[in-house]
Parts: sequence; C-alpha cells; structure tokens
Amino acid sequence: MSVDRTITVALSKGRILDETLPLLARAGIVPSEDPSRTRKLIIGTSRPDVNIVVVRATDVPTYVQYGAAAVGVAGKDVLMEHGGAGLYEPLDLGIARCRLMLAGRPNHAPGAERLRIATKFVNVTQRYFAAQGRQVEIIKLYGSMELAPLVGLSDYIVDLVDTGNTLKANGLAPIELIAQISSRLVVNKAAMKMQHTRIQQLIEALRPAAAPSP
Ligand code: AMP
Repeated sequence: MSVDRTITVALSKGRILDETLPLLARAGIVPSEDPSRTRKLIIGTSRPDVNIVVVRATDVPTYVQYGAAAVGVAGKDVLMEHGGAGLYEPLDLGIARCRLMLAGRPNHAPGAERLRIATKFVNVTQRYFAAQGRQVEIIKLYGSMELAPLVGLSDYIVDLVDTGNTLKANGLAPIELIAQISSRLVVNKAAMKMQHTRIQQLIEALRPAAAPSP
C-alpha cells in the first residue's frame, strides 16, 4: 500500500468514467488528459495529490482492496460479485443505474433437471438461488449472455438490464429482480484510517454531486 500522500482513484472506462468525471470535476479534480482517449494507465489531475488509474471494471475492487488505489468507483454488481473484502462503501453515487435480473424466454418451461443459469455473475447468482434453497447449475460466460437461452445453453440468464431493449431484441423477458444497481465510491479500509482527513474530504466533496436515491 502506498505510503505517500497521493490519493489514487481507480475508475473503469465507459459509463462509469463518463459519469464519474463530472462528479470529480465538481470536487475540483480534473484529469490532465482525457482518460477515455489516452493510452496512459496512470493519469495526473489538477490536484497534485490525486491520480487516476484506469482499470477493468471488475478489477476496481481488487485494486482498492489491496490499497493500490485508495479509492475507486465500481458498480454494485461488481462489488456484490467481488464480495467487498477490505472495502468501505461510503457513498452511492447514483450513476450507471440499472437492475440485475433473472431473465429468459417468456414461455420457457424448464425440464425436470436442475435449472441452468448462464451469467458472468457466478457468485451473486449462487448466493441468490442458495438463499431460496433452489438448486441450479451455473454456466460462466464472459459476454453476450442473452444468446445462451436462445441456443439451449441455459434455461435463464442473470444479467444487467437498463432499458430492457437488449432482452426484447432477443425475445427474452425479465423474470425476477435480483438487485437495483448503481455505482458506489469504495475506499480501502486501511487508507480510510491512514489518510482519513483527505479521503473524508474527497467523500464530502463528492457527496453533494451524488444523485439522491430515486
Ligand atoms: P439495455 O438493452 O438498455 O437493457 O442494456 C442491457 C445491456 O447493457 C446488457 O448487455 C448489459 O450487460 C448492459 N448494461 C446495462 N446497464 C449497464 C450498466 N449500468 N453497466 C454495465 N453494463 C450495463
């Protein structure tokens, strides 16, 4: 874990980066180059004590857990899948909202065997069905989950749904809501103690920017 006085913020490209940069700007933190265009992975900001690192969305909790980044922004889906070890989650930024859903073909009648669920959210799906005492077989996929029920790979999928257009375009329908999702500020637990004042200032600066819950 870094012992200098720099705060490193882990972000991921795409929606989280696009929607977090305006929040950081309102907190006086502006990257010195466009993080969505540069090939650099460590980007300075208008604040000499704040750096941004750009990592894969699913890696954000890992960087923060191990203190390689003191803070980060990650979707609740990614945090649920990671498990949250070593992290505080002090702020719901209210951005990149969507729902984690069980979905499938509307009139699908599953066979007598164990339900097969295709998803990249293996841990969340395991916990969701285990809590209901339902036995399922989970098939790990890395993308295009919507295809799985169409080609008989699985009975259902667990995936993020925003407008529902992707499900609809593939003849699928939402079945059960697993979790409401939005992006959260996460903080390394040790950094929260050792750099408390500076991290607390960052949290407070971002708080008014965070959208209220719907
Ligand atoms: P939609 O067609 O608007 O329901 O969007 C669904 C597709 O976008 C799925 O492939 C999801 O995995 C992806 N998606 C929706 N919302 C998010 C989000 N907040 N973060 C990441 N991926 C998302």
